[in-house]
Amino acid sequence: MDYQALIEEVYKEVNDLNLKGKVADYIPELAEVDGDKFGIALVDLEGNVYGVGDYEEAFSIQSISKVHTLAMVFHKFKSKLWSRVNVEPSGNPFNSIAQLEYEKGIPRNPFINAGALVISDALISKFENPKEEIIDFINELVGHQCVKVNESVYQSELDHSERNTAMAYFLKAYGNIENSIQEVLETYVYHCAMEMCCVDLAKSFSFFANNGYSIFADREILNESHNKRMNALMLTCGFYDESGEFAFRVGLPGKSGVGGGVAAVMPNKFSIAVWSPQLNEKGNSLKSIKALELLTDKLHFSLF
Ligand code: GLN
Repeated sequence: MDYQALIEEVYKEVNDLNLKGKVADYIPELAEVDGDKFGIALVDLEGNVYGVGDYEEAFSIQSISKVHTLAMVFHKFKSKLWSRVNVEPSGNPFNSIAQLEYEKGIPRNPFINAGALVISDALISKFENPKEEIIDFINELVGHQCVKVNESVYQSELDHSERNTAMAYFLKAYGNIENSIQEVLETYVYHCAMEMCCVDLAKSFSFFANNGYSIFADREILNESHNKRMNALMLTCGFYDESGEFAFRVGLPGKSGVGGGVAAVMPNKFSIAVWSPQLNEKGNSLKSIKALELLTDKLHFSLF
């Protein structure tokens, strides 16, 4: 399979469609990003990198980081974590407060904001320096120091985090937050403000395609059973209330962020990251999803 030719073909076809969405602006600093940026990087399991467009430019990975933080705490809790957060698709927007009250403070899954706040709380309980250790973990997955936290995005989101703050209080009221609300919010916003380019993001997802073993870190990150579950969660919950649509059109485990990034994996073959900041009304990148749809249509193999 000539992956380079494939992603170049996809890149061109998507660009020709002239899709128009909206750059996220509820975090004011994200609104400054050039909406026409578009890049794709594919990394196979030998470590070969294929890229097109703005694939070497760092962008705000936002909610994609929820996958990294879950991977960090998964094996630290055994099954106990799953009494604090469910594993069902939410069918609701990523920042829904209503659902949290109906379901008595147990978030539907770890990838909506409420669920990721519980995971941040778990990180604080289990790690001495959670913020630094998140960065170290991702750098290890990529094989070099690449992660930067964008301080203005961090500050901008902290200054406008009323909804997430409300959710954190709700969670605490139901006994589902152990640490201070401020610390949980800061840890959560910090990992959302990390920046990486498509190549490094795809590398950080490589172990999900490789039964839990990272060729860049040269060690097992998750055992096969945990890895299988991470992929299942991404497939069913990675795109909020558009997860079914993503599975239907693309058919890969993946995760989106409001910075316009999408990371996805084709188990036993490759990981891929796409970035285009213009979003649809569900907060997912229009071009990135289209690119992955065209790509999986053109491949001669699939997950199913
Ligand atoms: N930091 C963002 C928020 O909490 C992440 C949301 C996203 O990427 N979907 O709203």
